[in-house]
Amino acid sequence: MKKKVSGECALCHEKGGLCTSHIIPAFVFRWKKNTSPTGYLRAAETPNQRAQDGLKQPWLCEDCEGLLNEAETVFATKMFHPLNQNPKLRVGYQDWMMKFCVSVSWRVTKYLHQKSSLNNLTETQKKLTSDALARWAEYLLGKELHPGQFEQHLVLMPGIIGGAMTSGMPKNINRYLLRAIEMDIAATPHIAFSFVKMGPFFLFGFIQNPGSKWKGSKINLKRGTFGGPTEYGLPGELWNYIEGRAHKAAKISASISDVQQEKIEMDILDDPNRFLDSGTRQAMDMDVNLFGRDALIRKPSGK
Ligand SMILES: [Zn+2]
Repeated sequence: MKKKVSGECALCHEKGGLCTSHIIPAFVFRWKKNTSPTGYLRAAETPNQRAQDGLKQPWLCEDCEGLLNEAETVFATKMFHPLNQNPKLRVGYQDWMMKFCVSVSWRVTKYLHQKSSLNNLTETQKKLTSDALARWAEYLLGKELHPGQFEQHLVLMPGIIGGAMTSGMPKNINRYLLRAIEMDIAATPHIAFSFVKMGPFFLFGFIQNPGSKWKGSKINLKRGTFGGPTEYGLPGELWNYIEGRAHKAAKISASISDVQQEKIEMDILDDPNRFLDSGTRQAMDMDVNLFGRDALIRKPSGK
């Protein structure tokens, strides 16, 4: 949290020194690093470089940074780490849960909006994206009591161990579901939402209301419970979307150069116990149980 630049705070618009902070919270990257086979991170977009940390932006004044950190710390301590250890837990939450979800949806949507990678959105959806950003900011600053129509939905997916659904599924599905960290704005002509994946936590910030088909995932404003056996009712299109993201992750992983692959293998050989105990290894085992050894083939056949 070093002060580097001066400018206008992206949340409260006060002018002054700005903190450089993470788009997707730092604790998510620390968790992945600590449970990875090599102790290094690789960013999905540039798998050939070890990414020591997530993406950062100089956006917030110290007050706003503190405001968002508060909810983030509680979420990490009470929700993220305990449920990664034991997804069967059911954890109670208070208003920090909504604050955390909105703050992450706001940061990610703002980042992707600035990067102008919203070509998949209709004009209406672009307008709604600006409305959602404004409403989320007002809620975070305490100027609005709730995020309005721009709901937050959180789903925990601690992997797939079997069942009739596996045909046609990407063979890295458990590695994707359990381990991947990524962000996106997803849209069909009438639906749009921000998507932030923090390991097995899938956060959706509604931009154009995807409707009433989503059951069991909505975050309450004041209090609720999360985790443990949950009957989620999610639209089929959402599963297609998630499968598509897993396929994309597999493609990126297949593009890791041979030199880099060798480095990963050498890192693993340096500390084989770390690999055997890692979260990545557990997710790989789950994929092998579902699909057999084929699940571990890295490159498309014929190469
Ligand atoms: Zn501020």
